Amino acid sequence: MMIEHVVIRYGEISLKGKNRHEFEQRLFNNLKRSVSDMPEVRLQRTGGRFIASLGGADVERVMERFSNVFGVFSQSPVEVTALSVDEMVEAAKRVIQEEQGEHPARTFKIEVKRANKRFPLDSLQLAAEVGGRVLEDMPSLTVDVHHPDTTVFIEVRENEAYVFGRRVPAVGGLPVGTAGRVGLLLSGGIDSPVAGWLSLKRGVDIEAIHFHSFPFTSQRALDKVEDLAQILANWAGRVRLHTVHFTDVQTEIRKHCPDSLGITVMRRMMLRIATEIAKQRKLLALVTGESLGQVASQTLESIRTINSVTNVPILRPLIAEDKVDIIRRARQIGTYETSILPYEDCCTIFVPKSPRTRPKPEEAEAAEVNLEIDRLVTEAVERTTQKTFVAKEFIEAPVLRV
Ligand code: ATP
Ligand code: MG
Repeated sequence: MMIEHVVIRYGEISLKGKNRHEFEQRLFNNLKRSVSDMPEVRLQRTGGRFIASLGGADVERVMERFSNVFGVFSQSPVEVTALSVDEMVEAAKRVIQEEQGEHPARTFKIEVKRANKRFPLDSLQLAAEVGGRVLEDMPSLTVDVHHPDTTVFIEVRENEAYVFGRRVPAVGGLPVGTAGRVGLLLSGGIDSPVAGWLSLKRGVDIEAIHFHSFPFTSQRALDKVEDLAQILANWAGRVRLHTVHFTDVQTEIRKHCPDSLGITVMRRMMLRIATEIAKQRKLLALVTGESLGQVASQTLESIRTINSVTNVPILRPLIAEDKVDIIRRARQIGTYETSILPYEDCCTIFVPKSPRTRPKPEEAEAAEVNLEIDRLVTEAVERTTQKTFVAKEFIEAPVLRV
């Protein structure tokens, strides 16, 4: 018999009532979307999990897709049997055969979970019965309850049993769409796409906000950001990108503000504009790719001075991450190759000779006295353009929880 089913387990189920229902509904939809090119795969919710009937689809391919759906913690290819010891024994034997790698299994154990208390044998009795009969049929094996080569799990349910030998970890997190909507400040760099991915992993929907300074930054730089938005959309289902045309703001900053505080003022303007967009779009928070101490504008003093222009919560999923770990993650999620393409960032074109690394809020305010902040913010928001990206490719490479 071929494997015809996959059990999908989701975590974080301390959720109750209405939340739990919404959580499961989102996860169901997101799982369906991940195999929308395989209509033969059918999904059902069953007792705190999902079970997929493969309908002939390749089990490894399906599991690869599910392993990248946020909210999934682990999966198992299972044989579904009747509540019959004979069938369980046959399935257990196949599992042992299938799960052994290059070296044939010498030892095994049977582990039973019995949800159905009316089943006549209790867990230990059933494990002993199935184990004993497997031993009779496969005399080269012995039982080892501590370090078996193979463990066969049997779950006795109301109307059937699941028999399986593997629990494959998946990406984890919470289903996209269960945590509200945030605005991701998306540059063309390595960090912010990773920050966006991590927030998707915690269940938010994201709208990306990008600051573009044509002609100082090229069309190519914008194309690159759109490519990143597309990759994030492949994970998220859908990502709306707001492109803020930022040239005027930057020109004004250059004209009216001291060079050494240019970056600080620019970042404050970015946040003011993003705050306005957040209000209009009902975004509950902003997300950045900042990591403490990574560059001059990411000292604690600098973060504080920049942050003080807004009341919208700012999430910084990478705050404690080292660059090497961010890069590893970027590779895993498929943004790295795009992020490292050469481009001009609107932050790199006006790099002052000696930026203040620990600017105080009062200094930033003093630097801004000749800047028409409200007008610049209003105009920039009015000129912002939108584009929506919808998932186009399926995520195939497994990205495991780390
Ligand atoms: P990244 O790799 O994400 O560009 P970085 O290490 O280069 O990050 P900075 O350039 O200092 O760091 O930017 C810090 C954060 O500010 C970015 O992670 C991003 O969230 C936001 N940001 C910077 N430039 C832009 C931009 N042009 N448009 C939108 N957000 C930006
Ligand atoms: Mg950058």
